[in-house]
Amino acid sequence: MHWADIFSKQVVEKRPKEEYVVESGITPSGVVHIGNVREILTQYFVYQGILKLGKKAKFIYIWDDFDRFRKVPKGISEKFKDYIGMPLSSLPDPWNCHKSYAEHFESKLEEEIKKIGIEVEYISATELYKNGTFVENIKTSLEKTEKIKEILNKFRKEPLPKDWLPINLYCEKCGKDSTKIKYLGDYKLSYKCKCGFENEIDFRKTTDAVNLKWRVDWPSRWKFFGVDFESSGKEHKSAGGSWDTAILISKEVFGYEPPLGPMYEFIHLKGQKEKMSSSKGNIVTISQLLKIFKPSIIRFLYTQRLNKTIFIPFDFDIYKVYNDFDRCEKIYFGKEEGDEELKRKYELSKLEDYKTCPKRISFSELTFLVQFISKEKLREYLKNLLLSRGVKVDKLDLDLALERADRVKYWIENYAPEEIKIKLSTEKIYLTEEQKEIINKLSEIVKKESSTEELQKQIFELAKNYGKGVFEISYRVLIGKNHGPRLAILIDAIGRDKVLERFRNL
Ligand SMILES: [Zn+2]
Ligand SMILES: [Zn+2]
Repeated sequence: MHWADIFSKQVVEKRPKEEYVVESGITPSGVVHIGNVREILTQYFVYQGILKLGKKAKFIYIWDDFDRFRKVPKGISEKFKDYIGMPLSSLPDPWNCHKSYAEHFESKLEEEIKKIGIEVEYISATELYKNGTFVENIKTSLEKTEKIKEILNKFRKEPLPKDWLPINLYCEKCGKDSTKIKYLGDYKLSYKCKCGFENEIDFRKTTDAVNLKWRVDWPSRWKFFGVDFESSGKEHKSAGGSWDTAILISKEVFGYEPPLGPMYEFIHLKGQKEKMSSSKGNIVTISQLLKIFKPSIIRFLYTQRLNKTIFIPFDFDIYKVYNDFDRCEKIYFGKEEGDEELKRKYELSKLEDYKTCPKRISFSELTFLVQFISKEKLREYLKNLLLSRGVKVDKLDLDLALERADRVKYWIENYAPEEIKIKLSTEKIYLTEEQKEIINKLSEIVKKESSTEELQKQIFELAKNYGKGVFEISYRVLIGKNHGPRLAILIDAIGRDKVLERFRNL
């Protein structure tokens, strides 16, 4: 069984209720990259699993835009230093295209997520707080400050200071959280800010100043929304990390049975020179990934087991991702044997409802074809290639192959290892007598009118007499390498006339 179904079953069995809630969320402090997307897709697949069980469910995404601005990310003016300590939703947009800093990054991610077919209800934490949503949870937390401290101190070397409170307060004058706060009981707080301002507030009325500290805010949300499932990354899951404390606070402070929340591993890019990091500014977004993977394949990448690091390949491993996807597609359509889990991986990834299994041309095969055949001629070529394999093609198959070819081309031009790049060799080559004989025989075969498949069969016949030397010398003569794509495909991709000319002029 796929993990999405295992977890949804557990959620439904352990927490009988009318409507289930799956939650996700992040602080919009910068560009949300494909590492963060693992969280969204993990929750999304479980949400899909709950729906499949015939239960009602909703998937909410909380923007933690009432969090403080901590540091100026790369690429943003140093002037933003002045805003450190203010809520992200009250900062201006550095590019002046949205209402705030937070909204800029939020809308970017929302657009990206839409591109891979994810529907989710976005909720702004700023709005929640401003609407007084958490007033009671704030009061409960303040009254149970000692309990919360006791829980947090269990995991701390240095205990929290005496006057510690589970809340932050943004000064009404300077907007920063550099405030010393006192709880006066019954919704009332007094504070003194570093800027000199001091005041007394009732947080039922002044709702735009107070929020809960992260470790308390998280379980407060679970309780308010009735969250049943929320997985998270390693950064929250260390011993005594925010997950451990959130569970205890949820139970002991808010009296709420915490959601199910497995941990998922990291995301790494493979074949990119540098490791993805926001501070280096070399992070990868969904939009960039879409240039080499179609939306359903991006989703497919995230269906891998949660306890495994996902490697997103920009190198030759990209072949494997595409081949795995094509295989799961065949299994889904009953064209190949395979277990239920693989079938489900495809089902969770797919965005299209094809009536029958598309006939695919593999990514690796296309890498050679697109280097030799112009886009205009490719459709015709692919049609003949599939026909020569006895495959009846329709428009959709060709459209899909061409769509894939565009991505292959982009991959070759931007990421592929140098050795993939091939062109017809013009180098002078010394041939032994036997090799001359092979080339002569091969020329005769190439001259004959035949389909690519027939050509390949005849080449195999030739290899029965001469061994694998047939392939070695052919690749060396044609592309200056020791190996290459299926020889007949290569010959037809180059064009038989050009191949014969090359053979003649050796
Ligand atoms: Zn903007
Ligand atoms: Zn102030």
